[in-house]
Amino acid sequence: MSWLQRLREGLSKTRDSLVRAIPWSKNPEEVLEELEFALIAADVGVEASQEVLEEVRRSGKKDLREALKQALTVQLEPDAFRAKIRKAGFSPDAKKSVVEPKGKVILMVGVNGVGKTTTIAKLGQYYQKQGKRVMFCAGDTFRAAGGAQLGVWGERLGIPVVQGPEGTDPAALAFDAASARKARGFDLLLVDTAGRLHTKHNLMEELAKVKRSIGKADPGEPGEVWLVLDAITGQNGLEQARKFHQTVGLTGVVVTKLDGTAKGGVLVPIVRTLGVPIKFIGVGEKAEDLQPFDAAEFVEALLG
Ligand code: GDP
Repeated sequence: MSWLQRLREGLSKTRDSLVRAIPWSKNPEEVLEELEFALIAADVGVEASQEVLEEVRRSGKKDLREALKQALTVQLEPDAFRAKIRKAGFSPDAKKSVVEPKGKVILMVGVNGVGKTTTIAKLGQYYQKQGKRVMFCAGDTFRAAGGAQLGVWGERLGIPVVQGPEGTDPAALAFDAASARKARGFDLLLVDTAGRLHTKHNLMEELAKVKRSIGKADPGEPGEVWLVLDAITGQNGLEQARKFHQTVGLTGVVVTKLDGTAKGGVLVPIVRTLGVPIKFIGVGEKAEDLQPFDAAEFVEALLG
């Protein structure tokens, strides 16, 4: 099955309920109301659903499905891109996702279980295929299994992993990894981090320290800080996402498990809440199950 088929299958329930809402009645206001329910049920959130519908009304389009596609595409991009997309007439080329990272280090954050380690492996393979020399830092030193898991991926993909024994200070390890990347002239370092909640140690403070120590080893880095979010947790992940953003200043998001039972609509409030672009989406457990995010393509899978 292609990744797009897997995504379509993952989103099929949401698609059915949205599509069902569209030709439901001849009265436009009733249709919009029905559509609002369907959007909220799909995890789009109340405010964002209302904005989507406003955009649909504003467009004055007779073809409701087309109007909805365009409104959702706009909502799936941060403010900075919206005007551009509207102006470009929603052509598929209006905005190709920027997946070329700024700088040489990507700090990856997110709570345990969302698929962070798997995503790092997938990104490693993705950038390796683009001809980059990639390194990993197993910065989740709190979980022995976390480091081991990334070690296995590193071996499988032929990507060196900077590791320390369980309990190593993650900021010190990140410093070493960033220094090693520079010294060895690798193109990209992906840094894994802890994602535990509810412990005595303050995770957010620790992440801020890891970020600072990367900057000490290699000024200006990390060029990117990406949050990994699990689409299945839906709206519940948003408050946490905001906290990560406040602490480490996110520059992008990777949304995982869109091949599963996720409703998919949560991508809209993610972009709204954080104001940063979705960089990639995860559609499976294998290293190649990662795709650069493209709003128009995603909406097509949702409503096409
Ligand atoms: P971490 O605790 O955040 O590092 O999470 P892991 O990388 O260990 O992943 C947790 C589980 O989610 C594993 O079983 C992964 O195989 C699975 N997983 C990760 N990404 C995806 C995805 O895009 N789709 C599906 N179906 N499973 C995923």
